[in-house]
Formats: sequence, structure tokens, C-alpha cells
Amino acid sequence: SLSFEDEETIYAVSTPKGKAGIAVIRISGSSCLDIYKSLCPSKQLPKPRYAAVRTIYKPSPSTNISGIGGSSGDCKDVEILDTSSLVLYFPSPKTVTGEDVLELHIHGGSATVKAVLDAIPKSHSPSGRIRYADPGEFTRRAFLNGRLDLAQVESLSDTLDAETEQQRRAAVRGQSGKLGEKYNHWRDELLYARAEIEALIDFSEDQHFDESPEDLLSSTLGFIRRIVDMIKIHEEASRRSELLRSGIMIALVGPPNVGKSSLMNLIVGREASIVSHEAGTTRDIIEASLDIRGYLCSFADTAGLRGEKMVQDERKKTIGDIEKEGIRRARRKALESDVVIVVASLEKNDKGGIYLKYDPETLDIAAKASKSLLVINKTDLLDYALPSSTVLDKFEAGLSTIGGLRKGIPILQISCVAATESDNLNAIGGKQRKDPGGINSVVDTLVQAFSQMTNLPADLQGLLGVTTRQAQLLSECRTHLEMVLDETSQMNEREGGLDIVLVAEHLRIAAGFLAKLTGRGEAGDVEEVLGVIFEK
Ligand code: GDP
Ligand code: ZN
Repeated sequence: SLSFEDEETIYAVSTPKGKAGIAVIRISGSSCLDIYKSLCPSKQLPKPRYAAVRTIYKPSPSTNISGIGGSSGDCKDVEILDTSSLVLYFPSPKTVTGEDVLELHIHGGSATVKAVLDAIPKSHSPSGRIRYADPGEFTRRAFLNGRLDLAQVESLSDTLDAETEQQRRAAVRGQSGKLGEKYNHWRDELLYARAEIEALIDFSEDQHFDESPEDLLSSTLGFIRRIVDMIKIHEEASRRSELLRSGIMIALVGPPNVGKSSLMNLIVGREASIVSHEAGTTRDIIEASLDIRGYLCSFADTAGLRGEKMVQDERKKTIGDIEKEGIRRARRKALESDVVIVVASLEKNDKGGIYLKYDPETLDIAAKASKSLLVINKTDLLDYALPSSTVLDKFEAGLSTIGGLRKGIPILQISCVAATESDNLNAIGGKQRKDPGGINSVVDTLVQAFSQMTNLPADLQGLLGVTTRQAQLLSECRTHLEMVLDETSQMNEREGGLDIVLVAEHLRIAAGFLAKLTGRGEAGDVEEVLGVIFEK
């Protein structure tokens, strides 16, 4: 089936749809030369890998591609499709697909693109069929011709998807092919370890070994342990880069009316959810995705997390099921999130004093979350309140002991009202204070958390390219290696000693998962893996 595909030449517009100065048509396959002769009959083929200016003609009806020889030089009555096009020719095999590649950089108007596409001869080429490429087909050919390994194909896909600076950084790391080399190397070593283990079977029968069977076994096991440790590092790196790829989930939690929606709106910088005086407005979860200093994040503004008893007191046992469901979902959302922002607020009591309004359950969630921060909103009320701001300090001291709140959770004082007022002043040219309302320090604290969550030491930066699919395969590989370690650790307790056949089988399976990672090695599995990846 490969040789049949080889004879097909494919082409596609590589630039996006829509109006642009230039459009690039890329052609790959053995008919590139025929296509060139047909579109640019009077000019020499450009020097390989050099750009040349060409006029592109519509092949005259009398000249089909196989009759090119007779008509070259005679193009008086031939229609011009585009002038001053740039044409590049890349002869195989050192090309992006491994095949002959022709690139036409033409003017980007949709009529020009269509005319040139129509002019590409379709089925007349002596060197086989010519057709529009399927999605991902250039990359598929690059893989089949050994120009890219699967890990590189996946990072290519991530690169094309990258929307934020940090996503770009992660994707670029995977493109060198270093990861693929590493996994192939591990696989070779596991297969070697398997061979060594199997050799133990024959040991009693006067084989020559430099080492005793015990030494041989323990060095092999030591080696397997090292691979297990390295796999764990790769899995962790993948979790971190996954945060960059799919975005960091942030949940805002707290009782109704403390200012969750106000804070989210200020951070998002647009009306992402409704701000209202009425308790329980944010009944369901409202989400907004945004790029905060290069990190892709999604904010979830959850319904107030009230205990059911509280709700019943408030609404005199008339809470609807919908609301209960909303609260349940808010709690789950918060627990699934990567970062939890707990919002509390200062409120005035009847006598003009100030109290702190917070939900103990949210403090509990903050303590469970991997990253959390506590925000105390409405500090503008202190300007009017008695006694002084030491009230707030007392609240903070009290808070750090409440609800199992861990030490080290940042506590920030903010005022959404002060921030909004200052934004308005700014809009009419008023004086801007440095960080009015403290919203910038919330963002700073978030970005600090993002960087900690996604950071890898310099020597492991290359691992940012490990994708989730790869991490899953690594994890399966690790499981089988750990079974080997289990099996051998129990061997002394059992009568029959080590089950060598079982150990060898685990090693074979573990190596198989590594083969799936790069798509090389066990041909049987590769097609299935390819399907998954090239669909993307
Ligand atoms: P949510 O229910 O937690 O989402 O709270 P909202 O953002 O809807 O705000 C509830 C009420 O608190 C609204 O009337 C806001 O105007 C008010 N509010 C929000 N932030 C502040 C603040 O910093 N100071 C004062 N005084 N009021 C605020
Ligand atoms: Zn709200």
C-alpha cells in the first residue's frame, strides 16, 4: 500500500483561508517536475532550495501534461494566472515530506488561488495521480519517510495549536526529536535486559558468564529501577506541560455577595459574568478563558458555596433542587481546579461595625487544593469604619487557624470598588494610583503560582514536550517494570524462585509501550497509533 501512495502527488494551500497578500501552495510527490513544467512552461526549473520569480500560466487545453515537450517555448496564446510568483523546488529526500516538494508563493486573492489550484493537472501525469491532500497528509508522509518521529509529529500539532507564549515554549521543546531518541534508547535497553534475564534460564547448563547470576540479576534490576525513576520524572513533566497546553483551571469560591463576580470581571477585564446585589445570582458556573502573561487560564465563577442548612435557614426550606445542584457542582468544580481563590469580604453590621463574612467550607477546600489563595474583599469599608485597620489584622490572625487553613496560603486584601472607581477615573484622564484595590497583586500572586506549578529545572526543560498520550504510554510501561520489581522482590519468599518467563514477558510488554511512543519498532501497533495522531 505504501508504494501505491508513493505514486500519488498531493497538493494543498498551506496558508489559511481568507484574504492575504500571499498564499502558499505546497505540492509533494513524484509529479512535482511535471506540474512545474505545465505551469511554467517557458522557464527553467529553479535551482534547488532557491526562490525564483516566475509567471504562472494556465496550461493550454491542447497540451496535456504528457505532451509538454512539444509545446515548451510556445506560450503566446496561453493565459497568465499570476505574475511575480515565487517558486521553490526541493528535491527528495531531504525535504519536509521526504519526497520532491514544490512550493508556489502566489498572490493571495481567492480567485488567484482557485485559478492556480484548478490549473494543477490532476490525473494526466505520467508519474501517477495528482490530488488535493487529506488533512495531515504532508505530516503523515514525513513520518512514513522517516523525516519525523511520532513525538515530533505531536509537538508539531501542539505548535500549530499554540495560542499563548507558554504553550509555544512547551511545544517547541518537543520538536528536536531528542525525546524520541531517548525512548528508543530505553526500549533497546529493556530488550537487552530481557535477553540477559532469559539467559539466566540456561545458566546451569555450563554457559559462560562473566558475572554470577545473582550479580547479573541485581544489575539488571538496578537498571530497571533507574528507568522507572526516569519515567516518573517524565510523567511529572507531562503533567506540568499539560497545564500549559490545556490551561490552568482557577475557581473562585465564597459565599454570595462577597464580590467573586466583581473580582473575576476585573481580572478578565470584560463582562464575563453578571454582578448583582441579589444573593445567589451566579447560580451555575460561569467560565472565561484568557491569557494571563503567557499562561492560558480558565476562570470559573461558582455559585456561592453554602451548606445546605444555611440555605434552608435563608430561604425558609424552599430551596430548589436546581440551586442545590449548583452548589454541589461548585464544590466539585473547586476541588477539580488547579488553583482555588477563596473570596471573603468585610461587611458592615447594624451598629456600623465591621465583620468578616466567609464560608468555612471554602477554607477547607483551600486547604485541600494544590494551590490556593485567600482574598478579603471590600477593604474600602475600613475607610468609614471604627475601629481602625487593626480589625483586619485580627481577622487574619483568626483566619489562619480556621478550617485547617494551611500556613503559606497567601492572604490578599482587595477592594473591587476602589479598583473599578480608579479604572473609571483613568478613563476620563484622572490620576491613577499604583495598584488601586490590589487587583494587580492578585494577578501577580496567580502568575507566581502558575510559574511554580509549571516550572521545570533547566536540565529538564526539554521534557516540557512530553504529551499526555506519551505520559499514558510511559505509565503503562512503568506499571510492567514495577511488576518485574515486585516479582523479583518476592522471589526469595517463594519456593520456585524467580519466574523468569513472567519477568521476560513484562519486559517485552514494557518495551512495546515505548515502541508505541515513537511509532517505530513494532509495526503491528503503529497503524492504530497513527490513526489517533493524524486525525488531530
Ligand atoms: P458575588 O455574589 O460573590 O459574585 O458578589 P458580586 O461580585 O456580585 O458583588 C456583590 C455586591 O458586592 C455588589 O453589590 C458589589 O457592588 C459589591 N461589591 C463588590 N466588591 C466590593 C468592594 O470592594 N467594596 C464594596 N463596598 N462593595 C463591593
Ligand atoms: Zn457572582
